[in-house]
Order: sequence, then structure tokens, then C-alpha cells
Amino acid sequence: MDFAPTPEMDLLRSEVRAFLETNLPWEYGVGLPPRFDELGDEVAFGRGWQAQLAAAGWVGVTWPAAYGGRGLGPVANFVVQEELARARAPELVGRIGINLAGPTLLAHGTDEQKTRWLPRILPAEELWCQLFSEPEAGSDLASVRTTARRSAGGWVLEGTKVWTSYAQFADFGICLARSDPDAARHRGLSFFVVDMHAPGVDVRPLVQLTGEAEFNEVHLDEVHIPGGHLVGEEGQGWTVASSTLSHERGVNPRQLVIHLQHLDELMRTAAVTGAFDDTRLRRRLAQAYVEVRLFQLHNWRSLSRLERGLEPGPEGSLLKLYWSEMSKRLHALALDVLGPAAPLWHGAADNPGDGSWQRAWLYYQASSIFAGTNEIQRNVIGERVLGLPRERS
Ligand SMILES: Cc1cc2nc3c(=O)[nH]c(=O)nc-3n(C[C@H](O)[C@H](O)[C@H](O)COP(=O)(O)OP(=O)(O)OC[C@H]3O[C@@H](n4cnc5c(N)ncnc54)[C@H](O)[C@@H]3O)c2cc1C
Repeated sequence: MDFAPTPEMDLLRSEVRAFLETNLPWEYGVGLPPRFDELGDEVAFGRGWQAQLAAAGWVGVTWPAAYGGRGLGPVANFVVQEELARARAPELVGRIGINLAGPTLLAHGTDEQKTRWLPRILPAEELWCQLFSEPEAGSDLASVRTTARRSAGGWVLEGTKVWTSYAQFADFGICLARSDPDAARHRGLSFFVVDMHAPGVDVRPLVQLTGEAEFNEVHLDEVHIPGGHLVGEEGQGWTVASSTLSHERGVNPRQLVIHLQHLDELMRTAAVTGAFDDTRLRRRLAQAYVEVRLFQLHNWRSLSRLERGLEPGPEGSLLKLYWSEMSKRLHALALDVLGPAAPLWHGAADNPGDGSWQRAWLYYQASSIFAGTNEIQRNVIGERVLGLPRERS
């Protein structure tokens, strides 16, 4: 694939950049997003910002125009995501709706479901969460135990979900539940939309390493689900959920730009702290530079697949594995560059970055777990890319 930008993509890039230069709530290229002590305040800010972006058509550019998108292709989306990250815009608060729930509904929802839910996703009028993982079902998602039994006019859900990001702010959740306990594991599952404000939904925040509580435990206690909230056919939940998961591992333009920014900042910090004078650290800094560049090439390879109309495929696992390991190495290096300041936190004196490196180190520990653990990615690569013998089930 030829990666030289086309005139259309150059135009798109200059349009989105012009919008950001005029509308960003901080000075373009200089300022940073506001820092919030409360996650609720950050989410409220994020909703306003996403609404503003959506009104100008810069959210969900690959979605059909009928639901607020522009009907553009993967390269256009890559360009818009790159520009947003370059402007240091925060990650979109409605990303689970935009990246996971929306595309799943587009592929498997009825017209009524699409009309009801899709138009409110892009402007962050309604936020979504993903109710897949359970205490006994993470990597092995087909083991979900949450039950769905038929009742008058619909279904009743009973069970516990865990690690549900942003559930405390969500209006709806996409949920995998067992509707037929007698069927074979994958065949007994159905896919539902849960109203997170319905009676019986109890959300309990879980505090993470960073001290923030982005994810939650969600208890579903006799939650009534109207019949119209079943997505796909009864018993087809595994197929529908697989299509959701396929959207978790595509290209990653945001992380690409962020890691280029991290690297740039780290090089400058290393010059200040004197880390460049340490031969071993200097070598690792050079290695980090090479790794981020390789991540760019991995992204471009995946992007060329998408642009040709192909799915990310098992090679998507290579990208996820690569970026998460790269990121953890880069942040470990950052703490070594900080030297004696490494154990300090936000507000401490003589702490380059004012705690942002330490927070990022803690945050990126999760990158080898979320969206499928790295062991699972290695299994996929071994079996489906390298053709090694399959794991015993
Ligand atoms: C920050 C964050 C946000 C998340 N947000 C959400 C969310 O919004 N919604 C949601 O549904 N889930 C979410 N998750 C959950 C995430 O998808 C799971 O944590 C992940 O799938 C792993 O499942 P588990 O935690 O149950 O670990 P387990 O599956 O119990 O795995 C435990 C360990 O065993 C290893 N292991 C398991 N099976 C194999 C195997 N076959 N071969 C080799 N090793 C294996 C794993 O790699 C891991 O190291 C989130 C997780 C994190 C960290």
C-alpha cells in the first residue's frame, strides 16, 4: 500500500486541525487538558467536549451519515484520531459506545435498535459500558454464568459482572448472558442491552493501582430486560460478542501519537536529569525510539489490511501484544530516567513531570491485561499466525 497522503486525506487533516486550533478548550500545541481530582468531573468535561466534536462531525467518522458519522474509511479515521491525539485532546469519554457497542449494533441490531440507540452515542448523550467479564470468566469468556431466563415481555438477568469500565456513568451496557444452561458452552449465550438505570442494577466502583476507580463490579439482581433489547437471535450471543471483540484489536493511532509524545518528552527529561550521560540508559532510550517507530509500521500494516476491506485478523493480536509490551518497557525506562524522583507523586518537589510518569507507569500495567491478556494474544499468534499445535481445551 502507498502511504503517501492523498489530496483528500491532506484536506481532511487540515480541516480537523483547523477545527482543533479554533475550538480546543486550551491553546493548541501548547496547553494540556484540565486535570481533575474527581473522575465524575472529568467525565462531565469529556461529555461536553465530545458533544462539541460530534456537532462538527469529528466523532465516529466511519459511521454511516444516518447515525451521525461521515461514512469514511479506516485511513480517514486514522488521520482524525492522530490529529486529536496530537492536539492532546483527552480520550473520548464515550469510546465504548463509539468503538464497541455502536459497531456491534450496526452489524447485528434491528432497524428499531439502531434508530433508538445509535444517534445518541456520538454526541455522548448516552454513555455505554461493556458487561462481558465475570469473576469466573475473563480470558475464557464462554464460561459466563450470568443467567438470562425468559419472563413476560422479555428476560430476567441474574449474575455478577466485573472490571466494567465507566459503568458508574453508563446509561446502557452490552451484556453477554447464558440463556440456555443445557446447550453447549458457546451456543447457550445471548447478547443483551441492559438499561443501567433499571431496578436491580447495582454498580460498585473498584479502586485501581492509580487510585482512581474507572472500573466496577456490576451486580444484576433480577433485572428485567425488554424483549426488544436482545441483539441478534437467542443463542447467537457468542457470534455477536465475537464481532464486538474484533473491534478491540485494530489499529491504534491514538497510542501511536501518545507514545511519540511520551518519547519526545522522555528524551528532554533525560537531558535535564543527566540520564543521557549514563551509557546503559542512553542505549535503552535509543531502543525505545526504535520500538515506537516499529509500532508505527505495525499500525500501518494493519491499516493497509483494513483499507483493503479485510478484518484485523489474528495479526491484530501482534499489534496489541507489541504496543502493550513496548509501553510497559518505555514507562519502566521513564522511572529509571527520573532516578531518585521515581517514587514521588503529584505535588512533590523536584519531580519532573509532576507525577505524570509515575501515574502512567501504574496505568500501563493494565495494558497487558485489558482487551485480552498478552498470554491469550501469544496463544492466538502461535496457533493462527505461526500454525503451531492448538492449545488443549
Ligand atoms: C483496565 C481494565 C479495564 C477493563 N474493562 C473491562 C470492561 O469494560 N468490560 C469487561 O467486560 N471487561 C473489562 N476488563 C476485563 C478484561 O477483559 C479481563 O481482565 C481479561 O480478559 C482477563 O480476564 P481475567 O481478569 O478474568 O483473568 P483470567 O482470565 O482469570 O486470567 C488470569 C491469568 O491467567 C492467564 N491465562 C488465562 N487463560 C490462559 C490460557 N488459555 N493460556 C495462557 N494463559 C492464560 C491470563 O493471561 C492471566 O495472566 C478490563 C480489564 C482491565 C485491566
